[in-house]
Amino acid sequence: MRVGCPKEIKNNEYRVGLTPGAVREYAAHGHEVLVETGAGAGIGADDNAYRVAGATIAKTAEEVFARSDMIVKVKEPQPNEWVQLREGQILYTYLHLAPDPEQTKGLLASGVTAVAYETVTDDRGGLPLLAPMSEVAGRLAIQAGATALQKANGGRGVLLGGVPGVPAGKVAIIGGGVVGLNAAKMAVGIGAEVTILDRSIPRLRQLDDIFNGRVRTRYSTVEALEEECFSADAVIGAVLIPGAAAPKLVSREMLSGMKKGSVLVDVAIDQGGCFETSHPTTHANPTYEVDGIIHYCVANMPGAVPVTSAHALNNATLHYGLLLADRGLKALVDEPHLRNGLNVHKGRITNRAVAEALGYEM
Ligand code: NAD
Repeated sequence: MRVGCPKEIKNNEYRVGLTPGAVREYAAHGHEVLVETGAGAGIGADDNAYRVAGATIAKTAEEVFARSDMIVKVKEPQPNEWVQLREGQILYTYLHLAPDPEQTKGLLASGVTAVAYETVTDDRGGLPLLAPMSEVAGRLAIQAGATALQKANGGRGVLLGGVPGVPAGKVAIIGGGVVGLNAAKMAVGIGAEVTILDRSIPRLRQLDDIFNGRVRTRYSTVEALEEECFSADAVIGAVLIPGAAAPKLVSREMLSGMKKGSVLVDVAIDQGGCFETSHPTTHANPTYEVDGIIHYCVANMPGAVPVTSAHALNNATLHYGLLLADRGLKALVDEPHLRNGLNVHKGRITNRAVAEALGYEM
């Protein structure tokens, strides 16, 4: 199969669908790989690195779209990309169609077979192609919180790790899933005092085992949330109710009970955010203040570290990408978890949640 990788064109997107390491794997499976010139610039991989890995370099995105049987990307196709897709071609990328009727129409009109990273599943009920980005965002959340806590950045001037003779700062993490676990690892690593709140007792049990007493776990009630937020220096919002908007767990009123200059990092902002006062921000201008509390609400946190994020994403996408390239549509018949990723095929929506969200027939 000829596998194509265009350069990402969405604003501020520096990741790339195929790293040179992934290209080498496709080439070893006997596939021809076509990569747009400059596609890897954002992760420091030049055209020569791709040539050495076995790719052919295309001068334009148009050439990649026109000549490839399968397109591997990171972000959903933009309007000038979806018009270049066609029936018989496979698109393998993040799509997030449910809130995006325009893109959905574009993909349906193209006839393409579109497999969305975010709906591919695994045996444990997880979303394996989404998890690496939650790992990145969770780890980054503590760096973001620690930076925002510095006086010059508007924070209360607390070093999360403390020093001998001065107690460590306090971190409260709301939601102990993939983001929460990774945030906790970083917070523990820098010596902070950490509490994780969750609604799932089995998950709290698991976290208790993982950290062996190094973090406190707490069942998430209004009372617990208030107590933990009021004493925290940094609060990380990491809840998820699959398919739903994030619940608003910290109200504006609660801010008045928090320490001035403490920090809220709302990782769940991509689902609407779990603090009432959150609104999406960008890497260029990541924080703002409400009632003396610093808010960090960047909706695409992994974009800050494209080198790490692109490699983590490629690690997760490679297995099913190779299956699609090796077997074509038969891979979707053979592999139920990959089939769950199929969102659009020959002008029809093939994912129930997406169809219901957008009011289409399956
Ligand atoms: P996850 O499903 O692994 O974990 C979510 C956790 O929230 C679960 O353990 C669940 O029990 C818990 N939860 C649900 N309701 C709760 C409540 N009322 N109180 C406390 N805990 C509650 O999800 P995840 O992968 O960790 O993702 C968390 C959020 O981070 C999602 O909204 C995800 O989209 C978002 N995210 C954002 C970025 C970004 O760049 N901003 C990147 C990756 C993920």
